[in-house]
Amino acid sequence: MGNIKILPENIANQIAAGEVIQRPSSALKETLENSIDSGAKNISVYIKKAGKTYLQISDDGCGMSKDDVKKCFKRHATSKINKINDLFKIKTMGFRGEALASIASIAQVEITTKRKTDILGVKILIENGKIKEINDCTSTNGTSIKIKNLFYNVPARRNFLKSDQIEFRHISKEFVIFSLANPEICVKLYHNNSEIYYLEKSNLRQRIVNILGRNKNEMLVPIKEKTSLVELNGFIGKPETAKKTRGEQYIFVNKRYIRHRNINKIIQQSYEELIAKNYIPSYFINLEIPTNLIDINIHPTKTEIKFENENAVIAIIGSTIKHALGKYNIAPSIDFSQEISFNLPYKKEKEKILKEPKIKIDKNYNPFENQDEKIPKQKIIYESSELDNKDLIKSFASPIIIKKKFIVFQSTDEELLIIHKKRAHKRILFEYFQKNIENKTATTQKLLFEKKILLNKEDIKLILELEKDLNLIGFSLKKIEENCISINSVPAECNDENVQETIENILEQFKNEKKITTNRNKKIAISLADSMSISNSKNMTKEEMIKLKISLMNCNFPSVCPRGKKAVFKLNYNDLEKYFNVSK
Ligand code: ADP
Ligand code: MG
Repeated sequence: MGNIKILPENIANQIAAGEVIQRPSSALKETLENSIDSGAKNISVYIKKAGKTYLQISDDGCGMSKDDVKKCFKRHATSKINKINDLFKIKTMGFRGEALASIASIAQVEITTKRKTDILGVKILIENGKIKEINDCTSTNGTSIKIKNLFYNVPARRNFLKSDQIEFRHISKEFVIFSLANPEICVKLYHNNSEIYYLEKSNLRQRIVNILGRNKNEMLVPIKEKTSLVELNGFIGKPETAKKTRGEQYIFVNKRYIRHRNINKIIQQSYEELIAKNYIPSYFINLEIPTNLIDINIHPTKTEIKFENENAVIAIIGSTIKHALGKYNIAPSIDFSQEISFNLPYKKEKEKILKEPKIKIDKNYNPFENQDEKIPKQKIIYESSELDNKDLIKSFASPIIIKKKFIVFQSTDEELLIIHKKRAHKRILFEYFQKNIENKTATTQKLLFEKKILLNKEDIKLILELEKDLNLIGFSLKKIEENCISINSVPAECNDENVQETIENILEQFKNEKKITTNRNKKIAISLADSMSISNSKNMTKEEMIKLKISLMNCNFPSVCPRGKKAVFKLNYNDLEKYFNVSK
């Protein structure tokens, strides 16, 4: 170690630039944000070689005076805050006065700018953080910044850049994020002289469709909520459009793109019953939060954010999404309305209050009567008050069956409804059992002879941990030996011939989990639904099929089985017209 020296400003800026500007896309992000802060309504971006040699951002914002343009690339030069308290009410994207200083220290920068009130604009050339040239010039209102040869004076960083293709992907991602956050601004992107995006000012739905493709329009479910903590709006993707890869998940807080593990988690959870495992829904969500309730003092390149009331904000997001998904539902028109109930703090407006559907078990019904197949007897459980109405049932046209698996109904004059028999039944059973557990309304049947079930030690341990939950659904059990339990009663709906299998199915749901605390009821309900659902090979009468349909339509989430696989397909007149290319 030697003598201590104070670093020259330019070197200090170059070092600071390492944090703010990592690649062309970070320069794009910073300059786009400056344009937003300037009040621009039109922004054009022109780049060459993925921004490595040329990046130009032109806006029609407020512009700068000659004095300001001479200062704007100095370290800590900002027009956005004056005093420390300003930090807590920041409405602009930038405020640190770091971006231009960083960029100007590692690239050749040319700024042309003009305020509306000035007759002439000014053009300034900066190299190595110093003014090389400054002149008055004619210019349109607004600011145009050209950033040439990024890292020309820091070879180590230039070499660190990836291929044009990869760098362009970063540019494109940054541009898309910006465009989604600001649909009311017209934005264009040109790369090597070809147009990549030309996005007219629009609303968010239109913007999403313009960026991600026309087919996105139909997959978007709007969300909206306003509370004193947070205002929420945007769109979420329909469950059936969830993908295995990430990429269409966008959350903005006060127009700033953020990533937030717990928000992602709650969104994923809200879809849980609706999509298969490992699938990720799309979302485009704007949160407006009063600036004093978030910590904005985050590093410019970071996308994390701190909320003062994180738990509350997250709960609101979760329930808003569930509510929207429930509303979207698959609600084919049948001639009686349906009640959708949620565990949500919502008062449903304008929705007709209908009588609560009663849970009905068709005890006398056995679909396998008169069948010679030797199969265990099985009851189909339905859930709806309409099922008593024989005339209503009769009034349905006979459905068509395809390979015993699918049931096709004429739903309205204009619509066909195709139901996956087994999955539909699973959905009905699942909601039925879940409700029974939650409301403690399960009924139980005592077995004539207690059933002994042999299990390994681990499983015995597991089942004893679950005992309380199993009691709730109607099982009662006792450990009688090291590796044996006896079952004395089972849920009333359960077939006493396959108790062992039912129990094993339940255990299976909880194996491979470190903790069994989460979603116990749900898992038990799923496995009971699995065990008791009708097999695909069984024949059903017209009446049974209609009851199945009515019960399904009374479910909260009729469109999918409890594991998120599709249970219903709706084909309507418009789809047919589209398919056959019939013009109206
Ligand atoms: P910050 O955005 O944190 O204030 P920057 O280094 O990004 O810092 O910008 C410095 C200053 O330059 C801004 O505060 C603003 O006054 C001015 N400025 C930068 N870009 C523009 C622009 N496109 N239009 C008008 N003023 C701008
Ligand atoms: Mg800035």
